[in-house]
Amino acid sequence: MTGSTLTVAGLGKQYPTPAEPLVVLRDVSLSLAPGLALAIVGPSGSGKSTLLNILGTLDHPTTGTVRLGDTDPFTLPEPALAKFRSQHVGFIFQDHHLLPQCTALENVLLPRIASAAKADPAAVARAKDLLKQVGLSNRETHFPGELSGGERQRVAIARAMMNEPGLLLCDEPTGNLDAANAQAIGELLADVPKRLNAILITVTHSTALAATFTHKMQMQEGHLTSL
Ligand code: ADP
Ligand code: MG
Repeated sequence: MTGSTLTVAGLGKQYPTPAEPLVVLRDVSLSLAPGLALAIVGPSGSGKSTLLNILGTLDHPTTGTVRLGDTDPFTLPEPALAKFRSQHVGFIFQDHHLLPQCTALENVLLPRIASAAKADPAAVARAKDLLKQVGLSNRETHFPGELSGGERQRVAIARAMMNEPGLLLCDEPTGNLDAANAQAIGELLADVPKRLNAILITVTHSTALAATFTHKMQMQEGHLTSL
């Protein structure tokens, strides 16, 4: 579902505790048009990962709504929700989460293999094109253990783009990289929404990563505000 708008309204998240509930997200609202890259910056513990996990439907909000295009994923029953997630959301984490026994090309093909019996030639061609887009044409047959940290994260970005998701979500994507690689990955991520006509949101405590994005917001104690 590329070309979709993301609309978040009145989102709240609380965790029950023996004393009073722990309030992690407070009335978060947001509307993002396709093609937009947003960095949300905030200190550790401010609720960034919680927000990202809810936007990616890995966790449920306590209050409020999320819509991608015309779909509110939280109204879907679990099998349809899992399908929504695999088709429309791409994740990039601090750790690359690549399968060590698969080559770079096979890792990029994984989202397609998960939704089809066999990778068709068109899928292989797309995976090769994505590796080219992230600058890794000459690493197709390398295993993750044979790649540098920055290269592994590039494979993870290509994999997240494979199913042409409408929403790409990155949680501290440069957290394990040195400054030069972090800069290059930040520039690549900021450019992805235009290539896919998708929305990309990265959450980070790194002001250096946020600086590579034109659209920035801040998270503080569960409040999302403009910067
Ligand atoms: P950030 O990503 O900004 O560092 P998180 O979203 O991971 O912050 O966490 C925000 C707060 O929510 C923290 O105080 C954390 O302890 C709490 N929290 C996160 N997940 C859970 C959970 N599953 N149960 C209870 N509290 C949680
Ligand atoms: Mg976090």
